[in-house]
Amino acid sequence: MGKLIGDIDLVWIKSRTTENDNGCWIWTGARAGLGYGYFRLRSEGKNFYAHRTAFLIVHGHWPNVCRHTCDVYACCNPDHLLDGDHTDNMRDAIERGQMVHAKGEQHVHVLKERDVIEARTWRVEGGTFPEMAAYYGVAKSTIRSAVQGRSWKHLPGAVPANSKIN
Ligand SMILES: [Zn+2]
Repeated sequence: MGKLIGDIDLVWIKSRTTENDNGCWIWTGARAGLGYGYFRLRSEGKNFYAHRTAFLIVHGHWPNVCRHTCDVYACCNPDHLLDGDHTDNMRDAIERGQMVHAKGEQHVHVLKERDVIEARTWRVEGGTFPEMAAYYGVAKSTIRSAVQGRSWKHLPGAVPANSKIN
């Protein structure tokens, strides 16, 4: 069903996981960022996130923001994955943006540690720097440095620019 990459199916994904008591399929291969599983597909010459691929197999399209209902980043069980949209985030961004503009200042917000962790997760899940910059009310260069780990080096989950994972 749907567009597949290579001949990967759910059986292939599941066979590379161990199931925990919560029904999570915990990826046993390589991990990136905060613990997202990924694999390299030689035929495509690219890396792919295991959870996003599981979503693709079941739904036939890549998720926009692939959220875990179980909060286990390494989990690939499609029943634990939701495709969030950015509606709520963007609504927040607009409200924050208006607030910022009302003050006549462009970038008055300062990132907090939890923002950085969240942004790194959001990036893995498909977030773009412009929308993250709008959401957090900071410059694109600020959020990019934070997500890629050039700043906030003491926090986990940095997503390097060259990580090239789909
Ligand atoms: Zn799970």
